[in-house]
Amino acid sequence: MAKTAARRRHVPQRTCIACRRTDSKRTLVRIVRSKEQGVLVDPTGKLAGRGAYLCADKTCWNKAFKSNALNRALKTTLTEDEVAALRAYADSLPELPVEQDEPALADA
Ligand SMILES: [Zn+2]
Repeated sequence: MAKTAARRRHVPQRTCIACRRTDSKRTLVRIVRSKEQGVLVDPTGKLAGRGAYLCADKTCWNKAFKSNALNRALKTTLTEDEVAALRAYADSLPELPVEQDEPALADA
């Protein structure tokens, strides 16, 4: 009956809906479907509603738009306005360098 009470510091893990990478909450951006405001980016992570997470990486956002992953994760159909707002947010994100390979062609 002993519960395995691992009293270690628990870092909440979230999964990016595009690449399925799990990470601690901080490096993922929360998107929430709130009752009042519809689907929007929730940088504070505090809005009530169904949430989904994407890496702070433009490529994951683009992937999510293409595959309708957001619609599935949030169980809704995003309006054009909502998608436009999310795209605008994605545009502000850096395109992270791909891990491994891709030799830098910085030969000025
Ligand atoms: Zn991702």
